[in-house]
Amino acid sequence: MKEQKFNYESNILLCDLDAFFASVEQRDHPEYRGKPLIVGGSAEARGVVATCSYEAREYGVRSAMPMKRAIKLCPQAIVVPPNISYYQKVSAQVREIMERFTPDIEVVSIDEAYLLFPAGEGLEKAAKIRQAVAEELQLPISIGVSSNKLLAKIACERAKPNNLKALWPEDIEEELWPLPVSVLPGVGPATKKKLQQRGINTVGDLAATPPDSLAKLLGKIGFSLHQFALGMDDRQITPKRQIKSISEETTFPYDLTDRETVMAVLMELAEDVGYRLRRESLRAKTISLKLRFSDFRTITRDVTLAEATNSDKVIYQKASQLFKRYGNSPPWRLVGIRASALEEHKQLTLLPRSLEQERESTVARVQDSLRDKYGFEVLYRAKRLHAKIKENRSHHLQID
Ligand SMILES: [Mg+2]
Repeated sequence: MKEQKFNYESNILLCDLDAFFASVEQRDHPEYRGKPLIVGGSAEARGVVATCSYEAREYGVRSAMPMKRAIKLCPQAIVVPPNISYYQKVSAQVREIMERFTPDIEVVSIDEAYLLFPAGEGLEKAAKIRQAVAEELQLPISIGVSSNKLLAKIACERAKPNNLKALWPEDIEEELWPLPVSVLPGVGPATKKKLQQRGINTVGDLAATPPDSLAKLLGKIGFSLHQFALGMDDRQITPKRQIKSISEETTFPYDLTDRETVMAVLMELAEDVGYRLRRESLRAKTISLKLRFSDFRTITRDVTLAEATNSDKVIYQKASQLFKRYGNSPPWRLVGIRASALEEHKQLTLLPRSLEQERESTVARVQDSLRDKYGFEVLYRAKRLHAKIKENRSHHLQID
């Protein structure tokens, strides 16, 4: 196994707004300050807690808890519905402040971002960012500083609420190892239980366990967890603002004349494009179709949507409409789909959605998790098989 070294060339900050939605409401409504406040959907509509103030947390109220249960725990809590588009605006104001300090920002969610600085600058920049956010926006923000994402994240958790903390590689033994294994990313309740059964309770226990036996116990993730336990993490900061378009295209193994087969390929490409958009928390307003004919003539045609999308179905519909319209005169040599005019899209599960939207995005989510788990090949194989049974034409196509 490759030995990883600590990267001492950069500082990484994790900035996380404290109880973000609740803090915004308390800022704007002085009468909510110092009181247990819950932002979320109503109990009658089986809503859940989006965020709650630290005062509400003292009663055991937590994010994602059913509102009914939250109110039982803290009957005197003030409950307000979330105003997501407003919080997005405030989030953008926070980002503007961060951008004054560095262009290297990876937005994780509406209230969380990683920032990259040259080594030695992290602490000073973190203090300035906290000060600017407090003075200009009157919001509490916690920042963890270190040399990698893992340690910055853990430092930030320990800084909360409304503080700044560094966790450097040389502090690992003293500060990281006594913590429970659940502080590490990827350690959910099931993994935690498996580890506990082996007497592995703290990060230090994990670090002292040979990686091979962790891999035997947990699979591949055992190796990564061992690296994490040593404070090692080579995940890079990936700024999202550079993505201008996402595209997928394929050249056929031989020129195609069968329209149906091209449509099936378009569906696969649409799913790939949709998957990548969702992965990057983006939506596209423009969908383009690229088509190359057997004489190498190449055309690109696009359509602009009324509403930006990351839906496989919508991408496929638009691409196939373009193909029907402009794809005359086979044989075809190549097809491609490109999504552009991209917009940032945060996962906002609180917004009311139609049942159909819900169902479609569930299918998409399941597919995404399958792909993460097994790779793209499995889904392709399933689809090819399906096509074989359905249309008896599996021999037409092999794209890999
Ligand atoms: Mg937060």
